Amino acid sequence: MEVAIIGGGIMGVTLGYYLAQRGVSVDIYEASPVAGGLAGPMTLPDGTAIDRFYHAILSSDSHLTRLCAELGIADQLRFRETRMGFYRQGAIYSMNNVAEFLRFPLLNPLDRMRLGFTVLAAQLVRDWHQLEGVSVEDWLVRLSGRRAFDTVWRPMLMAKFDGGFEDTPATYIWSRLVRMKSTREGANQKEMAGHLIGGYITLINALVERIQAAGGRLHLSTPVREVVIENGRAVGVRLADGVRRFDALAVTMQAPIFQRLIPGAAEDYRAFLGQTEYLGIVCPVVVLDRPLTGYWTLNITDESVPFTGVIETTAYIDPQYVGGHHLVYLPKYTAPGSPWQQKTDAEIQELWLASLERMFPRFARDQVRYFLVHRERYVEPLHRLNGTDAIPGVQTPIAGLTLCTTAQIYPALTNGESVTRHAESAAELLLNGLLARRSVADDVAMATPVAPLDSVAVTR
Ligand SMILES: Cc1cc2nc3c(=O)[nH]c(=O)nc-3n(C[C@H](O)[C@H](O)[C@H](O)COP(=O)(O)OP(=O)(O)OC[C@H]3O[C@@H](n4cnc5c(N)ncnc54)[C@H](O)[C@@H]3O)c2cc1C
Repeated sequence: MEVAIIGGGIMGVTLGYYLAQRGVSVDIYEASPVAGGLAGPMTLPDGTAIDRFYHAILSSDSHLTRLCAELGIADQLRFRETRMGFYRQGAIYSMNNVAEFLRFPLLNPLDRMRLGFTVLAAQLVRDWHQLEGVSVEDWLVRLSGRRAFDTVWRPMLMAKFDGGFEDTPATYIWSRLVRMKSTREGANQKEMAGHLIGGYITLINALVERIQAAGGRLHLSTPVREVVIENGRAVGVRLADGVRRFDALAVTMQAPIFQRLIPGAAEDYRAFLGQTEYLGIVCPVVVLDRPLTGYWTLNITDESVPFTGVIETTAYIDPQYVGGHHLVYLPKYTAPGSPWQQKTDAEIQELWLASLERMFPRFARDQVRYFLVHRERYVEPLHRLNGTDAIPGVQTPIAGLTLCTTAQIYPALTNGESVTRHAESAAELLLNGLLARRSVADDVAMATPVAPLDSVAVTR
């Protein structure tokens, strides 16, 4: 059985790994010269490789850590106690434990308690479906109260959603509260975040090695131009140098990109895929010669700051693993077509550094070793109120074509943990489809001994 996988991000490579483990011959096609996609690496001017975007692994990421153990790279995982806080009007407020919650000066004692209660209430939700039709604002106002919503939650939601969050279900914040709480270990509820030495590419490389050892291939710098569809069945990929035929195909990129690859599919399915919405991102990394805040994450509740948060990954990555640098990512989430996506690197650099100077009096520009900007249009899938019908299925209406993409991960957040989990389930579905086709083929072979397999199009 030969399967083509389009996209060499974590999803594609993990899917390839699980299929190769089951004896499938896998060819992964990746448009870029490096694998990893959003979780891929970048090289600093001094040659140090770092994650292009900030990536933490949580100690509660059980699927991911099990996968690392299976691949023999669990000894490359490192975890550290970290801190989180809020930034507002020149001050940082640490928010790591019950005592700090209860001291949070921007709210009165009753509102603080209600804020703490919101975190607790999220852990007690047993059936997330009940939050599907409740807006994030209604849910948070009910639990935290209007004042806490306006002071803490609204500015965070405004920053994250580039303005509008009216149609967003409560599942959005619920899944975040549950994930963040899961990092807190032990009686003292310390927060743990971690990484693989070398970044996520260490995981990607280990997966690729296993795929290759099983006879599979990763084709870098090889964009797929089209999924070739004949008589309603996907039969191959069109590359720059021609068509390669496969028994089955799996597409792992975002829905609007997938839509463009299947001009031969039914128009209503293509239109359906085009409705899947995403947040984009403009995400500079500031490489410093010293720590900036010491916090892993500072949530910004101050609308004068152009970025969504301050994420200092060297709060949990020992700088020795990243060339002795201190890494601070300053993301701004945007709509894919937002004017922020069009700003030049120089404009972003000036605005961002001026904000850092205002926010942190001890910060100075001569501490900056490098400032590098990355942009992506489709980063985080958006889900609307009662919107599960809008999620595209793993089995597409096109025979032989599987879709395995982050938009299908809901209500969990999209990250290495949920993506590798999803890829494993999708591999199982794809394999079952292939086996079912093979058993149909066997039946046909027994009934019609002449030209058996070709008659059910199990061809290369
Ligand atoms: C700013 C940011 C912060 C994040 N933080 C975390 C975190 O802390 N922890 C965590 O675990 N996760 C985090 N994530 C999420 C994680 O990076 C993603 O969930 C994951 O990388 C998605 O992988 P994917 O393979 O589904 O998609 P992608 O990485 O987008 O992979 C799709 C691949 O398809 C390729 N492709 C597209 N078109 C074609 C074509 N025509 N032919 C061939 N190839 C093609 C692309 O080049 C790409 O490599 C973060 C992501 C971002 C952007």
